[in-house]
Amino acid sequence: MSMNIPETDQKRIVVVGGGFAGIALIRALSRSGHQVVLIDKHNYHMFKPLLYQAASSQLNAGDIAFPFRKAFRRREDFYFRMAYIESVDTERKTLRTTIGEVRYDYLVLATGCIPNFYGLDDVKKEALAMSNLTDALNIRNRILRNFELAVTAPSEEERRARLNIVIVGGGASGVEIAGALAEMKRYVMPRDYPRLDMSHMNIYLVEGQDRVLPAMSEKTSAEALRILERKGVRVLLNRRMTGFENRHALFEGGEPIATCNLIWTSGVKCSAVEGLPLAARQKAGRLAVDAFNRVKDCPDVFAVGDLALMQDDPAYPNGHPQLARVAISQGKRLARNLQRIAEGKRPEAYRYRNRGVMATVGRNHAFVEWGKLQFGGFVAWLAWSLVHIMFLLGIQGKINVFWGWVWNYFGHDLPIRLIVGPYEQPRKERS
Ligand SMILES: Cc1cc2nc3c(=O)[nH]c(=O)nc-3n(C[C@H](O)[C@H](O)[C@H](O)COP(=O)(O)OP(=O)(O)OC[C@H]3O[C@@H](n4cnc5c(N)ncnc54)[C@H](O)[C@@H]3O)c2cc1C
Repeated sequence: MSMNIPETDQKRIVVVGGGFAGIALIRALSRSGHQVVLIDKHNYHMFKPLLYQAASSQLNAGDIAFPFRKAFRRREDFYFRMAYIESVDTERKTLRTTIGEVRYDYLVLATGCIPNFYGLDDVKKEALAMSNLTDALNIRNRILRNFELAVTAPSEEERRARLNIVIVGGGASGVEIAGALAEMKRYVMPRDYPRLDMSHMNIYLVEGQDRVLPAMSEKTSAEALRILERKGVRVLLNRRMTGFENRHALFEGGEPIATCNLIWTSGVKCSAVEGLPLAARQKAGRLAVDAFNRVKDCPDVFAVGDLALMQDDPAYPNGHPQLARVAISQGKRLARNLQRIAEGKRPEAYRYRNRGVMATVGRNHAFVEWGKLQFGGFVAWLAWSLVHIMFLLGIQGKINVFWGWVWNYFGHDLPIRLIVGPYEQPRKERS
């Protein structure tokens, strides 16, 4: 099958994955004189940091996604193809995809991560991950559908299971969705379901380590814990999930929790790309790259973003954190290097300048850590909001998100409470 991409005199760069790294790379290549082919399994770029807001009915999924064809419609010699990659043949310099083969001069892999369930198959079957737009909509649908079913639940036991939400993973994503759902419980659901006893609903945030936000300072962790608990979230620390059975989340060293809403934010891994040398594949599927993002033993294949494991940067001997800022800066640096190579110059090594980390626990509360500068509260929340709006693609998305936030803030409302999809027959489960 042909991918229908014209052959020209320009060198062809095939980019797989239009996430933060892929998009930054393609934008920075705009005047490089290369032919660029983008392959992605979706036809849009999505802004993962706000997925939790789509999952908790705060934002429309469309507001945090941007179609590739719109983003690059003015680009010459640019081609988008919606496909999955299947394998790479580094000898023939071709990439096999679900819609055919494509030849490359340079291949850039920017496929990011997928959820890692660490071999817990029963958990994988039941849990809702939060990794793409479909996941976010699934979480929204599942929670709202269970509220509807709770109204007619035949027993208190079943009602509690329908209303309980268990979030596994106390990193930024887990903390953010826990805070958002706690606000939903407090401000929105009592108005929509006045006859439901909200004390039957518990939001649990379960973390295997001894603190939430383990990537931030201990002070921030302690403050985040305090705020979450004040919002009514039950935070369970040092608790490792071991399985899911008969509508109960099971933990090592703790009681099972009855729930029909299990949300998994606990870990990630990268999918294997067939055809690359085994030596390149490292922990959690990341690909070993040199300081120029070149994949080990593959001179014309590069990896950027979450997928890349670069251990040459003296400040990050175990690789860079899997963050949007790293992905963006690697994408930009690689674009400059491909340009330099085209001009016969030597590429320059990538170095990450840490611009800090942020997380929010809901309205008026966020945390910012930037070197020695650490602050939380309302100012941090404003900074968090500003940074997220800035990095969203497209003016319309920025306006929609900003307006959505203003509406939610002053109206204490989460307007996107829609269950979208075919009617699902409630599962009959043993209790
Ligand atoms: C819920 C959540 C919240 C986050 N919040 C933050 C935050 O607040 N701040 C922060 O800095 N970072 C955050 N991150 C991490 C950040 O999103 C990642 O570090 C960043 O997305 C990595 O960029 P990337 O380009 O490497 O991959 P991604 O952005 O994940 O993009 C990968 C792209 O590859 C495509 N793709 C994947 N596999 C294939 C395939 N086989 N074939 C074709 N296409 C494929 C995908 O469709 C996607 O478009 C968050 C992540 C998640 C999941």
